[in-house]
Amino acid sequence: MIPVQGLSGARVAVLGLGRSGLSAARALVTGGAEVVCWDDNRAARETAEAEGFLCRDLKTADHFDDVARLIVSPGIPHLYPAPNRIVAAALQAGVPVDNDIGLFFQSFATGEWDSFDIAPKVIAVTGSNGKSTTSALIHHVLEHAQRPCQLAGNIGRGVLDLDPAIDGEVVVLELSSYQTELARALTPDIAVFTNLSPDHLDRHHGMGGYFAAKRRLFAEGGPDRAVIGVDEIEGRFLAGQLSEGRGDDRVIRISVEQKLSGPGWQVFARKGFLSEYRRGKQVASVDLRKVAGMPGAHNHQNACAAFAALRALGLAPKVIEQAFHSFGGLPHRSQTIAEVGGVRYVNDSKATNVDSAAKALAAFDNIRWICGGLEKEGGLGGLADAVGHVRKAYVIGREAAAFAMQLNVEAEVCGTMAQAVARAAAEAEAGDVVLLAPAAASFDQYDSFERRGEDFAAQVAQVTAA
Ligand code: ADP
Repeated sequence: MIPVQGLSGARVAVLGLGRSGLSAARALVTGGAEVVCWDDNRAARETAEAEGFLCRDLKTADHFDDVARLIVSPGIPHLYPAPNRIVAAALQAGVPVDNDIGLFFQSFATGEWDSFDIAPKVIAVTGSNGKSTTSALIHHVLEHAQRPCQLAGNIGRGVLDLDPAIDGEVVVLELSSYQTELARALTPDIAVFTNLSPDHLDRHHGMGGYFAAKRRLFAEGGPDRAVIGVDEIEGRFLAGQLSEGRGDDRVIRISVEQKLSGPGWQVFARKGFLSEYRRGKQVASVDLRKVAGMPGAHNHQNACAAFAALRALGLAPKVIEQAFHSFGGLPHRSQTIAEVGGVRYVNDSKATNVDSAAKALAAFDNIRWICGGLEKEGGLGGLADAVGHVRKAYVIGREAAAFAMQLNVEAEVCGTMAQAVARAAAEAEAGDVVLLAPAAASFDQYDSFERRGEDFAAQVAQVTAA
């Protein structure tokens, strides 16, 4: 645990008692703060109370008279589409609102670091897609290189559950836009921006707010190095804004769409080959086609981002390349779960938005595409050009018929995963890929994208065993 510094003796309110809220409450108490908690869900309150936390509904601004700070969980809206009533009460009372990420950055460095040979570092990864994969890949390479390292944030552990850093440690954090928007302290040593495409627009009041939330990681923190995907205008803008000039190598630009040139520092992938250029000269290359755990151009983008961050940390290209080969990928992301009779079954349940689904559709040929679910704001228009490799779509979800109508490809309304997998498997021929890439959230039929992916895997196991 990272005990929270700077709030000893203060009263701090914690809103939301899921994993990150509870870990924040514990870290605050260990740091000497007095904690008062709330969650609208009674079961969550009971869990907190069983641990000895005081729960109190902080309904109005008066309840904040003696409160120094409000800590909010990422799932709770703090601004748009409307702030949660307790956040609104804190804002009314003028109480600063923060989250576990802000507490982490304010508390990570300790006096003990003075005796370390190598100061611990934080690499923080944000972007619309590829955050988890990039973070996990960076962490995997560091482990392989036998550097002390820990992974946390949106992936795996809550940030305040991390162990205090040891000499030379590297902490890799995956940060969502909800987290970067709210954190009062954001000071990574290396910050990574993978890409930007529409997502969570309701929580950020549109694309401008969404980009602004991610940009805070760079603008507030002033990282020593910024790794930035420049395949969208927002990335190019951000890279330009952070550089003093074209040759400023505090910014490492990454791309999978163009060969980058110029006097600065660049990592890009073309036709499956990653190249690193610095001051106009090529300094490293990696054949990504041989990296089985990272299929498709979207994963090559993640590989470029991870490579750049690790180079910024001083790792040798050879060491990074070797470790890439043993990276197995993450569950529910471009994950091959079976190969039977020449048909490959791929679980990309995490493709919850249009962009990630489009990337998955580009990564494979002869696709029998299982898609559908809770449609996101912004519509499915972005998929129109992405279905060139699709033989047929099998649509799931409560609104499957309406979803199917919007697709630019032959589509069968299946409703359930069982039906979709059975139909796709029955029609698949050798060389086909049955791909779950829903382009939608899962909440109309499942608790999470993980449950949806597990259902897919269970159905695949059933049809392939038959
Ligand atoms: P995040 O943590 O940002 O949601 P993940 O690594 O979990 O990212 O991947 C989310 C989804 O996006 C998966 O469907 C995955 O296959 C896809 N994806 C992964 N990397 C990228 C990328 N660089 N660009 C677009 N889609 C990607």
